[in-house]
Order: sequence, then C-alpha cells, then structure tokens
Amino acid sequence: MSLSLFFTEEHEMLRQSIREFVEKELAPHAEEWEEEGMFPDWVFKRMGELGYLGLHYPEEYGGGGGDYFTNIVLAEEITRCGSGSLGMAIAVQVGMATPPILKFGNEEQKQKYLVPAIKGEKIACLGITEPGAGSDVASVSTYAEKIDGGWRVNGNKIFITNGYRANFMTLLARTEKTKGYKGMSLFLVDTDTPGFVVNRKLDKVGCRASDTAEIFFEDMVIPDEALLGEEGRGFYNIMWELQGERLIGSALAIAGAKLTLEGAIAYTKERVQFGKPICKNQAIAHRLADLATKIEAAQALIYLTTWKVDQGEYPVKEISMAKLLSAQVAFEVADEALQFMGGYGYMMEYPVQRSWRDARLGRIGGGTDEIMREVIATTMGLYA
Ligand SMILES: Cc1cc2nc3c(=O)[nH]c(=O)nc-3n(C[C@H](O)[C@H](O)[C@H](O)COP(=O)(O)OP(=O)(O)OC[C@H]3O[C@@H](n4cnc5c(N)ncnc54)[C@H](O)[C@@H]3O)c2cc1C
Repeated sequence: MSLSLFFTEEHEMLRQSIREFVEKELAPHAEEWEEEGMFPDWVFKRMGELGYLGLHYPEEYGGGGGDYFTNIVLAEEITRCGSGSLGMAIAVQVGMATPPILKFGNEEQKQKYLVPAIKGEKIACLGITEPGAGSDVASVSTYAEKIDGGWRVNGNKIFITNGYRANFMTLLARTEKTKGYKGMSLFLVDTDTPGFVVNRKLDKVGCRASDTAEIFFEDMVIPDEALLGEEGRGFYNIMWELQGERLIGSALAIAGAKLTLEGAIAYTKERVQFGKPICKNQAIAHRLADLATKIEAAQALIYLTTWKVDQGEYPVKEISMAKLLSAQVAFEVADEALQFMGGYGYMMEYPVQRSWRDARLGRIGGGTDEIMREVIATTMGLYA
C-alpha cells in the first residue's frame, strides 16, 4: 500500500527521527529491561524532551499540533525496539490516560497534568478495571462519596499499566450508587494522595518490562477540583477514551506483527532442511503469503479508520473491527512464526517467544475480542 495516501513528508521525517531514537536509545536495552521487569523512568523524560509524548496535542500545551497519524507513526516506530512493553506504556501516556484531560478538563487541570505529561515529567495511568468490573465497565464499584470540599474514595483497581510508578491516575469511579452507568464520574488523582495504595506489581506472561499494578483506595480524600469533566458523565467519557485506546492498540499490534513476519521470512529463507530452505516448501510459503495478506488488510483498515478520525468522525464500528482484526492477526503471526522456527522458536534465546507472549495481550487489553464483536454486532443493529 502506498504510504503517500495517508502519510506526508512530515510524517516520514518524524518516522525517521523516532526510528533513530528507538534504534539507538531503546532497542539495545529491551532485553535487559524485560529481565529487570520494568524499563526505567528516564524513557518518559527523554521522550518528552524529544516531543514524542505530545505529537497529537495542541502546541499551546507543549504538543506538536499533529494529526492522529502522528500517534500511529509513534506506535509503529516504538514497536521496533522489539518489546511490546514500551509501546503499551507510552500508549497509555499519550493515547489513553491523557486524552480525556484535553477533551474534558479545565485549564487548571490541563496545566497541572497534561503539560507535565507531555514533557514526560509526570507519568500517567488509567484506572478503569476492577476485580469485579472488567469487560462490564458499567459495574465499576469504586465509590467516590461527596464530602464537604471534595470526595472520599474507597475501592480498588486492577491491571493498571504504569500504575506502579505513575504520578497521577485518570480514575473512573462511581459517584451515585443507584444510577448504574449514569452514576459514574472521572477524576484526576495524584498518586501521592494519602489512601492511594499500590498494593502490588503484578507478574505477567508478557510485556514484562511494563509495570502493571493493583491499587487500593482507602478513605482517599481528593478535592472538588479533582473532578474531570461533568459529574455523572464518566461512563460516556470513558467510552470516548476507549476509542483512541483501541485504535492505537491496533497500530501497536500490527506493527509488531510486521516485524515478527519479517523475522519469520528471514528465518525460513535461511533454515535448510531436506536440502532446501524451508520457505521453498509450498506449505510454508503459502502460510507466509496468508499472514502477509492479513497484515496488509488490517493495516489498511487501521489507516482508513485513522483517516476518518482525522476527518472528525467517531467511527466506533471501524475502530472495534480494527482492534479485533489486528489483535487476532498479531497473535496468529507470532504463533506461526514460532512454529516456523521449530524447537528454536520455543527457546528463550530467540525473540519470537517474546512476540508470542506480548501479542497475546492484544486480544484481552482495552476490550477483549468478544467485547469487540459485541460492539460491532450492536453497531450492525443486530440487537435492535
Ligand atoms: C497487561 C494488562 C494491562 C492492562 N492495563 C489496563 C489499564 O491500564 N487500565 C485499565 O483500566 N485496565 C487495564 N487492563 C484491563 C483490561 O482492559 C481487562 O483485562 C479487559 O477489559 C477484560 O476484563 P477482565 O480481565 O476482567 O475479563 P472479564 O471481563 O472477566 O472477561 C473474561 C472472559 O469473558 C469474556 N466475556 C465477558 N463478557 C462477555 C460477554 N458479554 N459476551 C461474551 N464474552 C464475554 C471476555 O471476553 C473474556 O474472554 C489491562 C489488562 C492487562 C492484562
């Protein structure tokens, strides 16, 4: 597909500079950070200095004033460090926890949270999921009780990316116990607030260099000014946030799949069995052809959907389709790539095992495959 359909010369220059940064400053450490279980905080600071954490944000807040394709370029290039962890953590910073601040926040909140997040001086996390409320976001039970001058929050969140080290959380909590999804609100919470307790850093199958936390709120008192957007609109506002999250997640997944496929092609050209490279067996060549086709199709859907977003559309159906397809293709590619490598693929010393473990998350995080199908089916009018 010709990149010029969607990407300008400016995008390509941006791509080149991010690529150089990733190759020079991130990729050499990817393996060591996976083993250590967390990449260092300086990555946020450095990316902030380089302007990569605000590509899509207005210049008045320190952003680059770019279109949504700049975020896609970032997602595609950061994936080249070879670890899904960095892409996920950075995507939370730029495309998940902070967009609601620009969209729903007041000027004071933008100055206090968005500006330092763009600079990489404050690390952000997003608190939606709870032990009792995963796919069913409307059942969130963390309760923010109105008190004089603020709110008292009790409850807990789980699987929070960046949650172990974040400086603030964009939090979804219940503010009315009896109003279902209409009784929820968003808040901006400093993680050093008394009662904000990081209970533990979770041990994951993949994306091991990204920190994922379980968090408790124990009589945590936050001021009136912590309310983000309108009281009672939290569910609607988080559904808006999830669209950007799913689109950037799709781009990360397919960028990972492309890299994995490149590695698989190189390996099958080199590995000789029965006197010829294994890619010269039609059984393998045709599978590689299928995978390349699926990647191309998913990528085209992501680009077209991004273009619609840039035109001011709100393409929920296409975003859900892009998320569903990309996550599935990415895992299929990783699984097949591992298979093409036989026993070597199963060894920790080859990177394909990491792609396989990292890619599995795409079918769960930000809304599972099943929930994507549910959204698509709903937009198709099947339940009307
Ligand atoms: C590494 C990682 C990082 C994450 N980061 C964050 C984060 O930063 N912030 C955050 O808030 N959350 C985060 N999440 C949470 C993630 O979004 C949820 O795990 C996800 O939405 C699914 O929720 P659940 O795990 O509770 O699964 P459940 O909702 O319990 O689902 C279990 C299974 O049942 C299926 N299912 C549920 N309902 C239906 C239905 N109606 N029809 C058919 N099937 C159904 C699901 O598809 C799934 O297969 C993260 C998760 C992981 C693993």
